[in-house]
Amino acid sequence: MTADRTGIGMTSARTRARMVERLREQGIADEVVLAAMTAVPRHIFVDEALAIRAYDDVPLPIGHGQTISQPWVVARMSELARNGRDLGDVLEIGTGCGYQSAVLAQFARHVYSVERIGALVAKARRHLTSLKAKNVSLKHGDGSHDLGEDLAVDAIVVTAAATHVPSALLRYLAPGGRMVLPLAQAGEERGVQRLTVIDVTPAGLREQTLDTVRFVPLLSGLA
Ligand code: SAH
Repeated sequence: MTADRTGIGMTSARTRARMVERLREQGIADEVVLAAMTAVPRHIFVDEALAIRAYDDVPLPIGHGQTISQPWVVARMSELARNGRDLGDVLEIGTGCGYQSAVLAQFARHVYSVERIGALVAKARRHLTSLKAKNVSLKHGDGSHDLGEDLAVDAIVVTAAATHVPSALLRYLAPGGRMVLPLAQAGEERGVQRLTVIDVTPAGLREQTLDTVRFVPLLSGLA
């Protein structure tokens, strides 16, 4: 098993470079995000049996009925969160295996990530520790409600599908801050959402509806 890992490790830089070329072709243009996607070894975040598919542009199972988002989705949400600026602190809802957290941690000052499934918090912590990612804090919590934290972040990235904007989180956005989330649309097919961006502007909240995506649902309560 160790030999397999090493084998993948030896080819992964090349495989990852190909993944990043595909992301460019798919319209990801933010060089900072592309550099982060080049730097983070995605195969570390999936089970060994799936590592061979880690760089394909597909979501993969991570246990507990959850998935690691496909690379394009991670890149697109990162690009929208960054919005071409240097990011201070970022709050992520839905840590899963920790891959998006690791990507965000490449260019944010600090990433606070919340996950409702305790076993996934432990799994993500193992992955992030193995990468020596020091600017990520994980919390076992329910991000569909107020977190009871004292935070002022530049961006909130929600990586589970919401049926309405989790407004309890908006208070964590600093002025000029931005929330990125998959939001279900009235009348659209079940399981399909639109990436939605909410900006805190001097004139109030401004909402934009963008790409069609498929995320696992944002649920309440801890597991
Ligand atoms: N960010 C991950 C995607 C994980 S999938 C990646 O990099 O691939 C979405 C995750 O959101 C799941 O692990 C799920 O358990 C979690 N989730 C769903 N509802 C939640 C909630 N209310 N609070 C925190 N996490 C939640």
